[in-house]
Amino acid sequence: MYRNLVSFIRNHYNTEGFIPLHAPTFKAKDRDYVLDAIDSTFVSSVGEYVDRFELQLAAYTGATRAIATVNGTTALQTALKLVGVEYGDEVITQPLTFVATANAISHLGAHPVFVDVDRDTMGLSPKALDSWLEENVTMKEEKSDPGSPLQPYNKTTNRRIAAILPMHTFGHPCRIERLVDIAKKKAIPIVEDAAEALGSWENKTHCGLFGDVGVLSFNGNKTITCGGGGAILTSNESMGKRAKHLTTTAKVPHPWDFEHDEIAYNFRMPNLNAALACAQMERLPDILKEKRELAHSYELFFKDKNWARFQKEPQNSCSNYWLCAIALEDETLRDSFLEDINAQRIMVRPVWKLMPELSIYEHSQTGPIENAKWLRERVVNLPSGVTT
Ligand SMILES: *Cc1c(COP(=O)(O)O)cnc(C)c1O
Repeated sequence: MYRNLVSFIRNHYNTEGFIPLHAPTFKAKDRDYVLDAIDSTFVSSVGEYVDRFELQLAAYTGATRAIATVNGTTALQTALKLVGVEYGDEVITQPLTFVATANAISHLGAHPVFVDVDRDTMGLSPKALDSWLEENVTMKEEKSDPGSPLQPYNKTTNRRIAAILPMHTFGHPCRIERLVDIAKKKAIPIVEDAAEALGSWENKTHCGLFGDVGVLSFNGNKTITCGGGGAILTSNESMGKRAKHLTTTAKVPHPWDFEHDEIAYNFRMPNLNAALACAQMERLPDILKEKRELAHSYELFFKDKNWARFQKEPQNSCSNYWLCAIALEDETLRDSFLEDINAQRIMVRPVWKLMPELSIYEHSQTGPIENAKWLRERVVNLPSGVTT
């Protein structure tokens, strides 16, 4: 049944060998920049590649500031702190995501609340968010601060809802503009987990720049990589400054002395990694072009197949197609599909377990999540790496 798919993929990658889901590729330029960083001896917290990468990222995405970090998880943790998430607060996010999204909330001592996704975007659903908020939120004065502006509290847990954290799944932009409108009505800040969405746009704005702050990842399996790395994006200059301060031990600039004005993090991206990031960033347009061409040919392949549907980029958006995905018509065939294709040394993978399915999050408050369950049963990722 899947023989056509196997030969389609083998033909595209032009190999009889193992085909991974998404492997990075490196060119002479990548090597040159890394060697240059080594030769300079500035491999760690000082060096010009970090500044250069941050400027490159800001110019490409249109952000006012981009702040490079050691990975996407720490960027998320910092971003949540930037919008005011504190110990004991709640953060609304989606059940269908990589565990880092929920972990970043937990690392701050806050609690994730899981609200459903849309089937087409696979990201947080404005409809589900709106009805969850209507049902569960009451606006109150801050307990310790009578007369302060009203804040959103969870009626059941009596915890403050401090942020909403949607994720752009597999690079497909979620309905972020509607989410921003809904969040505004309740005065809740939005942090965008755009870890998978470098090169993804909605109505000509880059993912990560709709909410108050956004986050990218440059892990080894992402669209571009620097080994490990992340970034915080913002269009707010003062938030950008504070992000830099928080990720660099809150050191007050001084030619020799050590003044630190708050308990902050060492989350800065090392210059060695930034060198690789700069080289990869220069190759980004070529990488995106090839990824979108591959997605288009998958889309054509699945047009006349009745056993699966290709997960196309949502309307008015441009996806980076980080990982191409299909939804199987018959969910009972998912595991045999995975076994069959993997046995032929082509890596295919189901979507992540839903967060409330993990023992670490099974007690978290969870709304109705029918769409997430539907996707969890049917969606598989296909090889999506580039050859150039
Ligand atoms: C990759 C990823 C992250 C960040 O991961 P790091 O490995 O820490 O860079 C966060 N959220 C999602 C959805 C991701 O896919």
